[in-house]
Amino acid sequence: MPVNVLFSARPAIWPDYEPLLRRYFTEAGLDVVLATDLSAAEVDYVVYAPSSGLHDFTPFTRLKAILSLWAGVESITGNPTLKVPLARMVDHGLTQGMTEWVTGHVLRHHLGMDAHIVNPDHLWQPAPPPLASDRRVTILGLGALGAASAQALANLGFRVTGWSRRAKDIPGITCLNGQAGLDEALKSAEIIVLLLPDTPATENTLNADRLALPAPGAFVINPGRGPLIDDEALLAALDSGQIGHATLDVFRVEPLPSDHPYWAHPKVTVTPHISSETRPVTAAQVIVENIRRGEAGEALLHLVDRETGY
Ligand code: NAP
Repeated sequence: MPVNVLFSARPAIWPDYEPLLRRYFTEAGLDVVLATDLSAAEVDYVVYAPSSGLHDFTPFTRLKAILSLWAGVESITGNPTLKVPLARMVDHGLTQGMTEWVTGHVLRHHLGMDAHIVNPDHLWQPAPPPLASDRRVTILGLGALGAASAQALANLGFRVTGWSRRAKDIPGITCLNGQAGLDEALKSAEIIVLLLPDTPATENTLNADRLALPAPGAFVINPGRGPLIDDEALLAALDSGQIGHATLDVFRVEPLPSDHPYWAHPKVTVTPHISSETRPVTAAQVIVENIRRGEAGEALLHLVDRETGY
């Protein structure tokens, strides 16, 4: 009997995924019916993005798993109609894209590039930046994306501290965890990168108290999720000079409303949730491998723990 796979995501990305999925299913020796429209009661797996509009999984009576195309699953984990395993997206392209974006924005602030890119008065003010080995970067979140970004920055010579929920040991990175570890990780940090998931435990990780801990004038870079930051506290810290600049890719409301103070703030760079995206060529391989595993009775990759929410 063929395996029935429903592709439920934005219709615009179906032409990119369809040929890749069909090719990888064939290469994996899987007999699959793949479509964007299948009778719910016949579906075995849903390749899923919430932007498809599908939110009620009740009619999917023989569903084996949901395979998310997104890395962040905060809008899926709380779905009460979802009773089957949920796998999130971890793929090489997504990781590489995030590593490049984080490295680029860290280097922007580390090197003080803005002073030379926008210099209307043609000021000649030589102020060479320190070496990376004299710059303390803290990454909150040491998962697929945080650990890869931390390692890339450590390879460039930065002094990298990382913070996660559970204890970790990553060569070249000072790894901390727990609440005391968070304060320690933030204390004296000069550049802070947020790569935590959006869960009840991570909301407002950067609040007024914690924004007071880094070195004065520190830079905040958030490609994680908007709720990780208390926006009012960040705006106050920017106004006081405690935080020198914030580069924000994600927001509580997206697109960021045109009257939001972040747009007009001279010390904020807004990017429109582009720090990394799921790449079909690599993501389709992850999806097919997980369906192969499911059919072989093997454990799925990148399963979400519904208790912790990531
Ligand atoms: P991941 O592999 O699940 O890693 C999450 C990390 O956060 C882990 O190190 C985890 O700790 C840590 N963490 C979770 N809850 C914590 C808590 N309460 N206290 C301390 N640490 C905690 O996720 P990922 O693939 O790296 O992705 C991270 C996030 O990036 C995603 O959830 C998504 O929101 C965001 N993202 C954004 C974009 C974009 O374009 N802007 C693209 C992709 C992803 P443990 O290691 O101990 O579990």
